[in-house]
Amino acid sequence: MERRIDCCRFCNIFDKIYNYEIDKPFACNEQFMAVASIGAMVEGWTLIIPQKHQLSMKLCYNEMAFKSLVNKIIPVMIEKYGSLIAFEHGSNKDGSLTSCGTNHAHLHLVPFYDQGTLLSSYRPRMKWDTSHSSEIAEKVKNNEYLFYYNLKTSIEWNNPQGQLHILKEPVSQFFRHFIAFYLGRSGESNYREFPFLKNAEKTRETLAYANALN
Ligand SMILES: [Zn+2]
Ligand SMILES: [Zn+2]
Repeated sequence: MERRIDCCRFCNIFDKIYNYEIDKPFACNEQFMAVASIGAMVEGWTLIIPQKHQLSMKLCYNEMAFKSLVNKIIPVMIEKYGSLIAFEHGSNKDGSLTSCGTNHAHLHLVPFYDQGTLLSSYRPRMKWDTSHSSEIAEKVKNNEYLFYYNLKTSIEWNNPQGQLHILKEPVSQFFRHFIAFYLGRSGESNYREFPFLKNAEKTRETLAYANALN
């Protein structure tokens, strides 16, 4: 039996219970869905969410249903918005700071250009290991982690080689703070205070339309 949590916002979305209009997935298959993100500092900010309630994506990356949905979304996003960064803050404990308020796994896809040097200059002492997405589960074991992958020209998610950091302590909204910093909008990185619902509405509208055409 799959673990399912009644008060989980993402489990609710799979049950078609929506807090906001933007919660309605703009694309999905039997195991994953794509939803416009709340707190989107830029239009296009998307979450890929597994149906099964789990704390991180580490076991999802090898699933065909994940690859199949993400490979439908990425080319459309790149065409509409240009380069993307894909990232995950993988938590391992209900209520962990790392989960940023939701205990349900998700991968962020965000229009953002990084040649691969921004994160190292943002946190110079932080160690990142090159890692295929398929290797994360084995490398992190029960630790929490951060993973990102820059999608510049590649329009396919095929076990990408991204950067992995194993956390010693939980960290809150790490990538949001990083992106806000480079957008010059550090004061607006907390999605609870700045939900940016208008951006999410535009994302949903644009990507739902583009997906319908594909
Ligand atoms: Zn859930
Ligand atoms: Zn998140």
